[in-house]
Amino acid sequence: MKYSQMLGRTTKNASADNASINGQLLTRAGFISKQISGVYNYLPLGLKTLNKITQIVRQEMDRAGAQEVLMPAMTGLESWTITNRQNMDVLFHLEGRDDSHLVLNPTHEEVVTPLVQQTVLSYRDLPKAVFQIQNKFRNEPRAKSGLLRGREFLMKDLYSFHQDQADLDAYYEKMKQVYFKVYERLGLKDVTLLTFASGGAFSKYSHEFQLLSEVGEDTIFVCENCKIAINKEIIADQSICPECGNTNLVSKQAIEVGNIFKLGTRFSEAFNFHYTSENGEAKLIIMGCYGIGISRLMGTIVEIFHDDKGIIWPDQIAPFSVHLISLPGGEEKAEQLYRQLQDLQIEVLWDDRKESAGTKFADADLIGIPTRLVISARTGENVEYKRRNEETSEVISTEEAINRIKTHVSKL
Ligand SMILES: [Zn+2]
Repeated sequence: MKYSQMLGRTTKNASADNASINGQLLTRAGFISKQISGVYNYLPLGLKTLNKITQIVRQEMDRAGAQEVLMPAMTGLESWTITNRQNMDVLFHLEGRDDSHLVLNPTHEEVVTPLVQQTVLSYRDLPKAVFQIQNKFRNEPRAKSGLLRGREFLMKDLYSFHQDQADLDAYYEKMKQVYFKVYERLGLKDVTLLTFASGGAFSKYSHEFQLLSEVGEDTIFVCENCKIAINKEIIADQSICPECGNTNLVSKQAIEVGNIFKLGTRFSEAFNFHYTSENGEAKLIIMGCYGIGISRLMGTIVEIFHDDKGIIWPDQIAPFSVHLISLPGGEEKAEQLYRQLQDLQIEVLWDDRKESAGTKFADADLIGIPTRLVISARTGENVEYKRRNEETSEVISTEEAINRIKTHVSKL
């Protein structure tokens, strides 16, 4: 992609969204543009990154045997009345022209439970797990944290259906590991903490995946021995580490980017969802649900990986692998390298504008692509190579630069 042709440019003015680092940097770097409070446009750079996060999440859900579906964003209020959640404060309400009362779904138990009920009749149809990656809606009173707390946001939500508690328990443990794999692939392994949260009526605990960040809205209590945490809701009842008994828990701020929850029969009871067991009895389905906030993850990654110059994307989800800058006298060689990288399927953003070196370097730092290559009259047959997260640049051969880039790209 040539930067001169791209929709969405860097700007010094992020006044439209200055209440959070992620909102500011993503706006200034040209990734997103605010529509209204808590609702964003994703520009080409932003959508590339969002799609990469989505793809990692999708691959891991597929690998875990879950089946992807796409459910409607909108449904009738009746479904929410069946589960007695019609008064939930975050529901957006709409009126159809036929006087029907509609809602925008903030979660999909009300849709997925009767959907799966249509085809799951006996124990032979179980277990089942379905997921979707879709926009959700929450009528938030204060949507001002960039992508961290949106009124419209992208989520992966997965629902599992089981014959008995033991089968749910086993699947739940499996999903915990799948979630760790997702965060590891996103470059977040070292900052992800499994956090114990209250479990509701059917389980002692549920679990959140929290990323440590000073701007996080959640307070968690970390056991430094086990690298797990307890959330604020349950610390009053549970002031010791559930794994090792440590009482010296450290309070930290964090951002929740995933949660897994045993729903038990909460929704199968409401929808009267039974299956026929092996010995012919009608039994209630046991359910679990598993969420990952995909757009929130994008905002969180910016909160964690940035410096005073801009964003520092992990290789795995950067919109491009290479930010190529041509300076006067280097245009022709830059074009050759641009083609060469494209032929090698290495994603490259070429800043081909007639701007000063200072402007181009500042924009590269703000956008945060992992590898910067500069070609000028002075670099000759070589290229200046610099990683975004390192201070120094080196002049090396084009061949060597490509080899180094390949080692980073191949980590995907
Ligand atoms: Zn512990």
